[in-house]
Amino acid sequence: KELPADPITENYVRQVENACFSFVTPKQTANPQILHVSPEMLENLGLSETDAKSDEFKNVFTGNEILPNTQPYAMCYGGHQFGNWAGQLGDGRAINLTEIVHNNQRWAIQLKGAGKTPYSRTADGLAVLRSSIREYLCSEAMFHLGVPTTRALSLALSGDEVLRDVLYNGNPAYEKGAIVSRIAPSFLRFGNYQILAVRNDIETLKKLVDYTIKHFYPELGTLSKESYLQFFKKVAENSLEMVIHWQRVGFVHGVMNTDNMSILGLTIDYGPYGWLEGYDYGWTPNTTDSQHKRYRYGNQPNIVLWNLYQLANALFPLIGEAEKLETVLADFGTAFESKYLNMMRSKIGLFTENENDQTLVQELENNLHLTETDMTIFYRNLSHFQKENPEQGISIIQDAFYTSIEEFPKITEAWTKWFEKYSSRLQLEKESNVEHIEKMNAINPKYVLRNYMAQLAIDAADKGDYSLIDELFNLLKNPYSEQKDQEKWFAKRPDWARNKVGCSM
Ligand code: AMP
Ligand code: MG
Ligand code: MG
Repeated sequence: KELPADPITENYVRQVENACFSFVTPKQTANPQILHVSPEMLENLGLSETDAKSDEFKNVFTGNEILPNTQPYAMCYGGHQFGNWAGQLGDGRAINLTEIVHNNQRWAIQLKGAGKTPYSRTADGLAVLRSSIREYLCSEAMFHLGVPTTRALSLALSGDEVLRDVLYNGNPAYEKGAIVSRIAPSFLRFGNYQILAVRNDIETLKKLVDYTIKHFYPELGTLSKESYLQFFKKVAENSLEMVIHWQRVGFVHGVMNTDNMSILGLTIDYGPYGWLEGYDYGWTPNTTDSQHKRYRYGNQPNIVLWNLYQLANALFPLIGEAEKLETVLADFGTAFESKYLNMMRSKIGLFTENENDQTLVQELENNLHLTETDMTIFYRNLSHFQKENPEQGISIIQDAFYTSIEEFPKITEAWTKWFEKYSSRLQLEKESNVEHIEKMNAINPKYVLRNYMAQLAIDAADKGDYSLIDELFNLLKNPYSEQKDQEKWFAKRPDWARNKVGCSM
């Protein structure tokens, strides 16, 4: 309820001091058009399908109409980008419309691509259709995969043209502008706390942390040094939970800067993300990170920890005891080891614990790196492996290989050995074959938003055909189910899509 110290409501670019946000006005757009709406999110917000067809809905969720008694705002945050402190960043192209409470759940509603804010720096505050399709489809798909994430309510065209690239002949390549309405209990990031600590604005920092605990971690109770420490611990736990899920489904975020780390442990900011096709610790979808590969698949857990160190630094002035923060950070490492192992156990259908499992999992991951092996197909097909027939192992998973391993006796040998070990380990599991398959299939998705799938939807949408957006949206609602008429999406990446990833801006 309290007004920030920076009450200016104009959208001009500036440094915003002693405040967590600034009031802004979304841009009027030329010709707004809703392309898709998430029925699940409509229901969460207490809206009907009829509401979604109204002009009011269209205008509100493209920023053309402000709901009565609301004041849209953009948040101030900083962040470490690729390991370096970048100063004030903030919601440069995101505008929070309002928050609503429905069925006891608080939801913040945010437009992405609705124009400039004080935080837009040199950019335009807009989003193009391709990146908006990627965010819209992926965030809802992640939710249905059971991964903590921000959600999306709607995907719309603004009717404006947006400039991102210049063609080789010097001509501007205009693209369709788009606006996604994103929804989450809160969009607060590590960077919201960092900017205040860096500016030594401890008063506002304390206000923000108190606000966060009160609304999002109410179980932590009274506000004291101890509850601030518990708060940090909770954030660490939630972030760990999130990244274990990423590793489980093969999601690579691509730009895990501290301004893209949610204080609630939600996956946030779907930019240059990608999905593992070949299982590869070294893979990153982010072409601007191709040299150091800081945000590669295998490094994501380390980066979450690195980011938590930065958050610890920011919260230090409120807690004052470095050792206690260090203990939480050290515990992260231990908890990661055991949670990761359990997650990997479950992916290969082991629901009891054995002391040799660590080695079995390590050897599996080594094998998966021997030749390009499709992660999703591998795990899904592995459920058909029967412990009685270890010699059939390779034939069961061979659809996952991008190139045949027949001419590589060493690879064949490595897999044969592994399947023998795996087969004897499976003898220790109690459930029937049917139960075994069911349990594995609930952990290993059959359908994920492969990079080329999003690209196909984008290419069609560029030509005015939005049907593939709807098809993929519906497919990805049931990622763990067999969908007989959708087998075409349970397939390796086609050759043409080898190095196509998609883009962020
Ligand atoms: P990102 O890499 O997408 O997390 O963005 C980093 C920062 O750049 C954030 O502060 C964004 O709000 C800002 N930003 C990215 N794209 C734009 C844009 N088109 N207009 C204004 N700000 C942007
Ligand atoms: Mg961001
Ligand atoms: Mg982004």
